[in-house]
Amino acid sequence: MTNKELIISFLKKHNYNFCDDCLSSLTGISPRQSINQLCNKELYVFSKHANIKCHNCNKIKITRSLANTFENTKIKNCLKNERKFDFLWNEITSTLKPSQQIPNWTKHSGFLESEFEICSITNNAIEVFTIKDKHHRSIPKTDFENIFSKWDKYISGEIKRNELRDENKNTTYIISILKIFCKT
Ligand SMILES: [Zn+2]
Repeated sequence: MTNKELIISFLKKHNYNFCDDCLSSLTGISPRQSINQLCNKELYVFSKHANIKCHNCNKIKITRSLANTFENTKIKNCLKNERKFDFLWNEITSTLKPSQQIPNWTKHSGFLESEFEICSITNNAIEVFTIKDKHHRSIPKTDFENIFSKWDKYISGEIKRNELRDENKNTTYIISILKIFCKT
């Protein structure tokens, strides 16, 4: 079993949030840094949360849990066949949690070192906090819908990122969130 498989099977059995120290001691994977590196590379498999209590040591710190999107064949099939935005929006708003950290992603560069945080989720908007410029912004559902309508063309390279950005100032956050839910 690879380290990734070990962590997945552990989190499947224990569906809670765990810090890297505890994941390391509970799975036997060492050093602890290897958990950090692995999970940061696979943020669509392992959700990362700031300031959430670890189920094992009860300390408030950065913790991981298995992403709800993992192995979610329902959404994959639905998106493949129909690409219904409402279904996707429902998945996004029911899966994201406040304090969850989302890595910035672009098609060109992949996952970047920087990330932003989810603050609140309503049926009409998602509020995010950018750690870098300490700035809150509310991204309306309609912005997601707009970018989602061009998602396939962006993924195929027909539309460049700066063309998306010209249309919408929230593109950075939207494409990073869509990347998690539209595993194309
Ligand atoms: Zn812990």
